Amino acid sequence: MKLLIGTNNQYKVREIKEILEREFPGKFEIVTPADVLDNSIDIEETGETLEENAYLKSSEFYSLTKIPSISDDTGLEIEALNGEPGVNSARYSGEHGNDAENRKKVLNLLNGVPEEKRKARFRTVICYVEEGRTEYIEGICSGRIINEERGKKGFGYDSIFAPDGFDKTFAEMTAEEKNNLSHRGKAIRNLVEFFRNKT
Ligand code: IMP
Repeated sequence: MKLLIGTNNQYKVREIKEILEREFPGKFEIVTPADVLDNSIDIEETGETLEENAYLKSSEFYSLTKIPSISDDTGLEIEALNGEPGVNSARYSGEHGNDAENRKKVLNLLNGVPEEKRKARFRTVICYVEEGRTEYIEGICSGRIINEERGKKGFGYDSIFAPDGFDKTFAEMTAEEKNNLSHRGKAIRNLVEFFRNKT
């Protein structure tokens, strides 16, 4: 079957494509928006939840192409901040994609908050849309926000997030170590199970 991965982020495309091709050899013909649409379109993530944003993208790509589509959205949900930055994770400091300022804002807001109250989780939502059907597939990684930045690998909030059971942050792990634990890794493994059982 044809499947559109609703992002032009080549890293995400490669990651999902490799896993689906390994698990289902020959089943999918995977395309991206750049392969099938003339103009590059940028869908605004105006939803108030991760689910809404993932749906906005998948449903728009499906209605433009009629190809079953998946899109994702991820957020960091911090308990002491009532779930913030959540859907605003990419632009928490005000400027889209300024990872360093976003991390600084989180550390400042949690200044003085004791370790047991620094619980946080990354949540990835993948939305799948085909004719007459919408499904949500989730991946969660629970952990805590540490007191200062540690580690140089990764991106986003990696250097201030330590997953449960580890003292290391995501930014101190190899890509393989992180993928085994991460929200995105889990969401993709749940997507594989979804396709395995899909009728
Ligand atoms: P996106 O939906 O994958 O674009 O993620 C939205 C935002 O969440 C990113 O801009 C990052 O700030 C944050 N984020 C998503 N995934 C990760 C991760 O694995 N580590 C750290 N930050 C992440």
